[in-house]
Amino acid sequence: MVVLNQMRKSGGFWLKLDEVNILQDPGPGSLVMAHQLHLKPKNLDAIILSHRHIDHSNDINVMTEAMTGGGFTPRGRLIVPSDCLNSDPVVLQYVRPFVEITEIKKGLEISLGDIKIKFPILNMHPVETYGAIYTFSSGRLGYIPDTEYFPELAGAYKGIDFLIINVVRMKNDKRIRHLNMDDAAEVIKEIRPKKAILTHFGLQVLKASPERQAKIISEKTGVEVVAAYDGMSLNFEERDVKKWF
Ligand SMILES: [Zn+2]
Repeated sequence: MVVLNQMRKSGGFWLKLDEVNILQDPGPGSLVMAHQLHLKPKNLDAIILSHRHIDHSNDINVMTEAMTGGGFTPRGRLIVPSDCLNSDPVVLQYVRPFVEITEIKKGLEISLGDIKIKFPILNMHPVETYGAIYTFSSGRLGYIPDTEYFPELAGAYKGIDFLIINVVRMKNDKRIRHLNMDDAAEVIKEIRPKKAILTHFGLQVLKASPERQAKIISEKTGVEVVAAYDGMSLNFEERDVKKWF
């Protein structure tokens, strides 16, 4: 509902790590917001999908065109789970020759310029879903996208410095395989990053004030926790900037 009514933007997040530009999860509005924030899609080195759900993948084809000059300058990579390519694919056939395509598998590690990306574990969500650990010169950033809680989750992200975590709900609903706020607190407590960023809020979380929830988890865990907002930009080190939109 939050995405469909655009109560929050849904374009994903843009990472610039050691001069490597990555767009993660280009949902609806990604192209529009990138331009509004003066981010240049033609500078992207890779686009990554955690999974095929439309709030994470809607703009994958248009962003691939934007990365490759409408296909006239093939470059960059698409890194996606196999079910984004096979039956009922979200990556259209005609854009595929424009880029190098890599299928994500559990444990896959790839290098992009000076950074490394690892896909540590398969999440528990209705479609094939992977988070990522980006290793760059100033540290390690983990992203935990949509999943229900499972005991091995936190262990897969051990040792990261920064964490982006999708928290959709306040309370559990067995039909919806997402983390709730208590699950997120548990995962943050176990991983103990230097900083955690909550994002991907459903209606329940928006009503409960994401900022207040971040503060509660901070007090509970001793970890610095912040709530993402549209257009948020974070500077982990001078050279490393992340933007949400
Ligand atoms: Zn999903």
